[in-house]
This record gives sequence, C-alpha cells and structure tokens, in this order.
Amino acid sequence: MKPFLPLRTIQAKFIVMVLLLILIALQLIGVYFISTMKSSLINSFTTNLDGQAQMLTMLAGSALSKQDKAGNAEDDASAELAQLVSLVSISGEIQVLDASGKVLTTSLEEHQSYVGRKNTSLLVSRALQGISDNSEEIIDSDSVRKKVIAKPVVSGGKIIGAVYIVASMKDLYVTMERVNRIFVTGSLLALGLTALLGILIAGTITQPIKALTRQVAAVAEGRFEERVPVLGNDEIGQLSIAFNEMTDRLSEALSVNEEEKEKLSSILSNMSDGVLATDEIGRVIVANRRARAMLDLEEIEGLTVSECLDIDKAPIAETLRGKESTLLLQRPRPQGEEPLVFRVTLTPIRRRDKGVVGAIAVLQDVTEMEKLEQSRREFVANVSHELRTPLTTIKSYAEALDDGALEEPPLAERFVGVIRSETERMIRLVTDLLHLSRFDSRQSQLRRQMTDVAEMMEDVVDRFSLQLRQKAITAKVQVEPELKLKKVWLDRDGIDQVLDNLVSNAIKYTMDGGSVQLSARLDDAGKLTINVKDTGIGIPKKDLERIFERFYRVDKARSRSMGGTGLGLSIAREIVRAHGGHITLDSEPGQGTTATVTLPIDQEGSESA
Ligand code: ADP
Repeated sequence: MKPFLPLRTIQAKFIVMVLLLILIALQLIGVYFISTMKSSLINSFTTNLDGQAQMLTMLAGSALSKQDKAGNAEDDASAELAQLVSLVSISGEIQVLDASGKVLTTSLEEHQSYVGRKNTSLLVSRALQGISDNSEEIIDSDSVRKKVIAKPVVSGGKIIGAVYIVASMKDLYVTMERVNRIFVTGSLLALGLTALLGILIAGTITQPIKALTRQVAAVAEGRFEERVPVLGNDEIGQLSIAFNEMTDRLSEALSVNEEEKEKLSSILSNMSDGVLATDEIGRVIVANRRARAMLDLEEIEGLTVSECLDIDKAPIAETLRGKESTLLLQRPRPQGEEPLVFRVTLTPIRRRDKGVVGAIAVLQDVTEMEKLEQSRREFVANVSHELRTPLTTIKSYAEALDDGALEEPPLAERFVGVIRSETERMIRLVTDLLHLSRFDSRQSQLRRQMTDVAEMMEDVVDRFSLQLRQKAITAKVQVEPELKLKKVWLDRDGIDQVLDNLVSNAIKYTMDGGSVQLSARLDDAGKLTINVKDTGIGIPKKDLERIFERFYRVDKARSRSMGGTGLGLSIAREIVRAHGGHITLDSEPGQGTTATVTLPIDQEGSESA
C-alpha cells in the first residue's frame, strides 16, 4: 500500500509521531485529572452539604422540641425555623418538616405555598423512618443537576421532624466546565508548540539526510568533488564522514580504473598487431585500429569473428570452449598489391567464477615474414641448382677422363680445362655468396679512404683492357673537371667491386666492336654520380625491376656461358646501399644499358655496412 503522500517524508512522519504521542499523553492526563478533580469537588460539596444539614438538624431539633413542649408556641417556632434556614447560605432550598412530613418552613420565597403541605418524597419518608444517610442527585426540570439530602431531626430519642435540602450543583459543574476548557486550550497550545518544535527538530535530522541524498545522487552522476557537510559527531555526522571517505575511495578507484583503461586503449591502438575481443557468443566487442585496417572493416563491433575473418565458425567455437588455436589466413588486396598474410591466434578469456566469457583474436601481419621465407626457400633452391650444374659437369668430365680420355692427351687437356673453368666458376659463386652473407649478417665494414675518382675509373678500364681488346670494344672515361680537383671519401675496394661488376656486365652483354663509356660527375645535390653505359643487347622492360634480385638473369644460359653467377648486381647494390647511395639500371633492348650509381660524398669516417 502506498503511504499517504505527505507522510512519505521522514520529517512528516516524525512530526505526526510526536503529535500522536503528545495527544495520547494529554488525553491520559486529561481523563485522569478531570475525573479525579470532579470526584474530589463532588466529595467536598457533599461533605459540606452534609455538615450543614447536620448542623441544621441539631438547631431545628431544639426549635421543634420547644414547640412540642409549649404546644401553643407554634408561630414562634416557625419564625425561629424561618430565621434558621435563612442563615444557611445555600443556592437551593431548605425545608424543615415535622414528624408527619408537613413542611414547616422553606428557604425559597416562591415555595412559601408549600408550607403546611406534606413533602411526599421518598427521601423524606426514609428520614422520618430514622435513616439518616439519605441523599441523591437529580436533574431538575430546568436541567440543573441538584443534590438532595433528607435527615431526621431527633429529640429525646424520638423523630420529631426532618430537614430536607435541595442544593444546586450548577456552580460545581460550571467550574468543571471551565477547567475542561482550560485543559483543551492548554492541550491545543501544547500540540501547536510541539508541532513547531517537531518541525525544527525533525529539520535538524532530515537536513543532513537530504544533503546525503543529494551527494549520493551526485556520486551516481559521477561528480566526486562535492562533499556532505559534517554538522556534528552524532550518528548522521559519522555517516557523513564515512560517506565522504567512501566518495574519496570510489573516486580514487575510478580514476585508477580510468587510467588502466586509457593505458590499455593506448596500448591497443598503438599495437602493430590487430586485436579483436569477443563476448561469449563470439561477437566482437573491442577492435583496435590495426585490426580494422588489416580486415579493411570500419564497423566491426557487432559482427562475429568468423564473419570478420571470413572463416569457418568451428575454430572460434573451439576457442569459446576453452581451446587455443592458430590459423594462417590470406586477404586479397587491391590490384597490383600482393595478398596480406596474417596469423590469427585465438585465446579464450577466462573469468574465475564464470569460466570462458569470450575470446581474444590477435592478428599478426606475417606478409613480410612469409615473403622472406619464400625468398629464402628460392635462394636455397637457386644455390643448390647453381652448384649442382658445375658439379655435374665436373663429375661427368672426370668420369670421361677415368674412362680413357686420359689416354688421349689433347682430349684430356680440354676436359681438364673444362673442369678447371667450372671449378673457378664455383669458387666465384661461393665467393659472391660469402660476400652477400657478410652484408646480410652486417659483418661487412666499410673502409673509407680519400679516393681520386678519375684514377679509380681509369684503373677499372685498365683491369679490363684484355677483354676489351679481345672483343674490340672501345672504352671511354669521362670525369667532370671539377671532380678531378678533389678526392672523395669512399671504400675504394667496395666501389672497385661495384665498377668491376658493371663494366664486366657491359663487356659481357655488348657485341664485338661496341663501346663502353664510363662517366663521373657531381649532381645538383652534390652527390657523386657514376654512369656505365654500353651499346649492348639491353634488358627487356619486364626484367628491369627484378634485375637486382639474387640469381635473377635475363638469359640464364647466356649468363652462365659467360661465367656469370647472377649475383653481381645484388652485391653491387648491397655495397652502394652500405655507402648510403643507390644504383639503377636504364635500358633499351637492342640499344644498350646505362647503370647509374649515386653516392653521397660528404660523410667522413668508417661505418658498418
Ligand atoms: P651475371 O653474373 O649473370 O652477370 P649480374 O647480377 O651481374 O649477374 O646480372 C644479372 C643479369 O642482368 C645478367 O644475367 C644479365 O641478364 C643482365 N645484365 C646485367 N648487366 C647488363 C648489361 N649491361 N646489358 C645487358 N644485360 C645485363
């Protein structure tokens, strides 16, 4: 049942309670007090009346006995009795009766006609019979309460008459009425004052409760800076102190929580791996930026992990049953880009009391790793292949020699020559591989020295003079005059190797009678730019972008027949990169090829490659 609306506040309840208590107390006091007072007033009224009646009977006794003796002195006695009754001050009537009940005198003027008549009331007849204790209360015809007493008048052991008194109790009841009225007014005044005090006292109790309620609402809305005023050391004061402390703790706990959350979210958003967290039915509830980018999905929350990853539901269901699993997935990317490969690790989220409540999917981009792994596999396959070919040749020639070719010196000489050249090619290959491996493991150190570029380029041409002459290729060296005046800071051996590779390629892939031109200059950015230009067979466009890859050759058979290993350009690129420069090849099939090496020259000192 809903309480009556105004009674819903503690203040109202308190006031009503106090008023009811006061009312009950006043009622009890009132009933007790008024009834006690009434009976006491009536008692004293009765005693007083009784005393007066007693006195009257004695006085009337002597008057009546005198009349009896004289017999004739009736008139004197009546006059004495009349005087006697007039002496008694009673609001009411006093009658003196003779032994037969006849009225001898009355104090009331208007009842003088009763004199000589008989009073027939029951009390009178009882009195005349000798019963002295006769009294009753009556309500008169004019609605006034009256006390009636009849007492016998005894003289010489004989009842010679009676005294009959009718006394009005009006004054007594008027007094009672007044007392009642005073009591009711007093009660109302007391109630009014109590209500007023109640409002004030209840206010002092409810005010802090209201302040507490406001504070609770403020805390619920997240406003922790407000405080409940502490107005004393009573229970409410202690509650206020406890509440303020609780607010502080809560605010601290929340800010720690907030900090943790921020840390977590910044870790999540800055992670290089994608992270998806799901609820217990596999629906994504948290996803970081990287995950959105990897999956190319903006609105990810609400989708299931299997939908996001475009995979079967089984592994997710397994994870949600508490099993970890790892998957390797591929995502196609826009045209021209290679597919994204990522590893997904699914881990269940466990809660001590609830078991598995979700799963975490960590998405690792392993595209580069996969590419590296792929190129490593290709490299091993290439090395094995490159080594197998000369080894097979050597083996077959050695067997031929064993089978009798040794007996034929010219043939044996040719076979031994082949074996030697294949061995040399293998040595070159292994040397080149060693070189590359040093660059890969970053063990190779650059040893820079002040180098005269013009002299360096002349030396290269000198080293190839025999081959150039053999193929009737003309070689030209062109060095910018400005460059001739200064030396540059280079690893001479490394750059020699680069130039040797480039010039040897230029000679290898240029027909007899062609030309090779070496030029060096400082470009606009102040970098040393070396060009090796030939008029050879050139390189088709499609091969140009892969030409620096290890073992990549345009024409494998031709390269091999020329003694090439397919590693020259990759080694050149590693050396140039170690110098902080870059190398490019421009080519027009049938027209010729230009290799361009750009090197910064302003650094000093040696650095690791
Ligand atoms: P190789 O030892 O086979 O010459 P490189 O790495 O030096 O290996 O060269 C890779 C491939 O690039 C060669 O096999 C050849 O097909 C091509 N190439 C390099 N330089 C030239 C050039 N100047 N003219 C034409 N083709 C070239």
